[in-house]
Amino acid sequence: MNVVPCMDLKAGNLEIATDLNSAYQAVFNSGWYILGQELASFEAEFAEYCDAKFCIGVGNGLDALHLILKAMDIGPGDEVIVPTNTFIATWFAVSLTGATPVPLDPDMHTHNIKAKDAEKLINERTKAIIVVHLYGQSCEMDEFRALSQQFNLKLIEDAAQAHGSTYRGKKVGSLGDAAGFSFYPGKNLGALGDGGAITTNSEVLAEKLRSMRSYGSVKKYHHDIAGVNSRLDELQAAFLRVKLRRLDQWNERRRFIADRYLKEIDNKNVILPVVAEGVVPVWHLFVVRVKNRDEVQAFLKHKGVETMIHYPKAAHLQGAYSNIEMYQETHAVAELLQDEVLSLPLYPQMTDEQVNQVIAAVNQVSC
Ligand SMILES: *Cc1c(COP(=O)(O)O)cnc(C)c1O
Repeated sequence: MNVVPCMDLKAGNLEIATDLNSAYQAVFNSGWYILGQELASFEAEFAEYCDAKFCIGVGNGLDALHLILKAMDIGPGDEVIVPTNTFIATWFAVSLTGATPVPLDPDMHTHNIKAKDAEKLINERTKAIIVVHLYGQSCEMDEFRALSQQFNLKLIEDAAQAHGSTYRGKKVGSLGDAAGFSFYPGKNLGALGDGGAITTNSEVLAEKLRSMRSYGSVKKYHHDIAGVNSRLDELQAAFLRVKLRRLDQWNERRRFIADRYLKEIDNKNVILPVVAEGVVPVWHLFVVRVKNRDEVQAFLKHKGVETMIHYPKAAHLQGAYSNIEMYQETHAVAELLQDEVLSLPLYPQMTDEQVNQVIAAVNQVSC
């Protein structure tokens, strides 16, 4: 029996191997490896792709979010609203500044947080909301923008899973005050190593971040603020430029596969994800819910279908927060999701036969 992997990073890179090799050669031959022309070009191209005015390449997605918060002067005593169901980087970005992540349960069906729920958590210490466009689906950004304007909060997008997703026709990355992207290899736009970027329409914020990511320096050896070293290097920028040209095509293929799953998976034991109105998702992950997850996962494996779990433990229950009293409260949706979510195989290079195999196997799940 053929095994369908949950994702296949090499398959995507093989498809564009010639261009990736040329990109490598060009950087090698340039003799310039940090803060050069490849990065400048990628930043311009990615800003344009996101309909944002500015893009600042950084070392990874966590740094992107952390630097945004620091540049907004968010720190000790401040509160930032974050989803309970997300990759832990969303929370650590806040904790690293000394501010407090305030947990918000998502909608059970879309897996995204909602503005009307966030409103209940706002008090005089609240400085920002980080919306996570989870699994590749944009949050309801008109509602979040209205809320953040009403209470004078910063609105930050964690777009690490959603390169190219749109909300009411507008690209993520341009829908808040700033957005953090990750180019971790498994993301929809993935490097051949770590990478990240910030997009924003604010020139002031962009200039500050450009300095902060590189030792607080715009002019070499002049350090105006205490910055960090978190730069997207020339090689990764060159690879990402090649891959950016394929992103829409690959996202389209992800949507085609997801649409087949939505239409052809028909099993009362398997709850399918719901796409909110006005959203065009990019299906970073296709996450279903099942009651007896261990059994279902074993059954699918037996049928040659590999699955993963995103995420097996809600953020507030992670060991890193285990001795902080406020995180011992129950967040019922996240605690249900952590036990029921299951990610089916989905990546652009999946063949139609592999998609058939997944659908047939999922339709046979009987528990
Ligand atoms: C991947 C991811 C990040 C962090 O990105 P890194 O590049 O791994 O630091 C942040 N938020 C979410 C939702 C992610 O999926």
